[in-house]
Amino acid sequence: MPRTLVTGAAGFLGSHLCERLLAEGHEVIAMDNLLTGNIDNIAHLYDREQFKYIKHNVTEYIFYPGPLDYIFHFASPASPIDYLEHPIPTLKVGALGTHNALGLAHAKKAKFLLASTSEVYGDPLVHPQREDYWGNVNPIGPRGVYDEAKRFAEAITMAYHRSHGLRTHIVRIFNTYGPRMRLRDGRVVPAFIGQALRGEDLTVFGDGKQTRSFCYVSDLIDGIYRLSQSDYHEPVNIGDPTELTVLQFAEEILRLTGSKSKIVHKPLPVDDPKQRRPDISLAKRVLGWEPRVPLSEGLGKTIEYFKTKVGGS
Ligand code: UDP
Repeated sequence: MPRTLVTGAAGFLGSHLCERLLAEGHEVIAMDNLLTGNIDNIAHLYDREQFKYIKHNVTEYIFYPGPLDYIFHFASPASPIDYLEHPIPTLKVGALGTHNALGLAHAKKAKFLLASTSEVYGDPLVHPQREDYWGNVNPIGPRGVYDEAKRFAEAITMAYHRSHGLRTHIVRIFNTYGPRMRLRDGRVVPAFIGQALRGEDLTVFGDGKQTRSFCYVSDLIDGIYRLSQSDYHEPVNIGDPTELTVLQFAEEILRLTGSKSKIVHKPLPVDDPKQRRPDISLAKRVLGWEPRVPLSEGLGKTIEYFKTKVGGS
């Protein structure tokens, strides 16, 4: 049975990844310092013999006594309001945390998978984004703390691969949604669904003509799992190429929730990317992967989840 460490395990993606790894027969060591993660996301896994939670901040040295076969490094604040609120921890987990996780992988001869992001492309001048595009990032803007931390994390991951022969993978994760997102993490999916369910106005930033492409969480985790089983070391985009404007997305949420809420406009955040859509031809070719869950189906499940949360947090 492979033994696998997941950092950021109590987060939205980390918790879904833990479930998939358990289903694939892994023993899972789940690590999180709960800065933006939520222990409730993994509480249902506690009674599984193959699952163990360790509270730890991975920017500090990571001690783990036994053998490890895989490390999935998912620890980081990941929503724009989270990394604006925690700029220094975001830089530290991307830089020091990735260094520590790579050092542990090296010591244990474990495979290493880095959760990177479409934010490495910044406000992209090439559309859709392919992995060989180097990006258009403002290093000193408010989003730079996340973008540059992840760019550094990719650089050091490739350096460990080239210098130490570590078996590494880098997934560039595009906008993903599903159950266990935090209702108030500020991202557009929980924001709009929460507002629609409460009967509040939907806050579209700017004119709403900026685009995003939304991938359902089970599809994303499947792509990541396939990548971890491959021999491919360069970055791979995983995301859904179905592109919508934020305004179209708001209308879709109103339709699916049947809400009578209105759409209002708020100022566009600094450096908000104008367009984003993954080119997934590499993932199709190397991993045989493409998303399967249509937006209306994934949003339906997500809306059901948020119905249980509205009125709470
Ligand atoms: N957005 C919006 N209203 C909100 C939250 C977000 O219009 O209440 C917009 C935001 O400006 C961006 C898009 O939705 O253009 C996606 O934002 P999100 O925070 O989900 O993540 P991003 O893709 O920017 O990292």
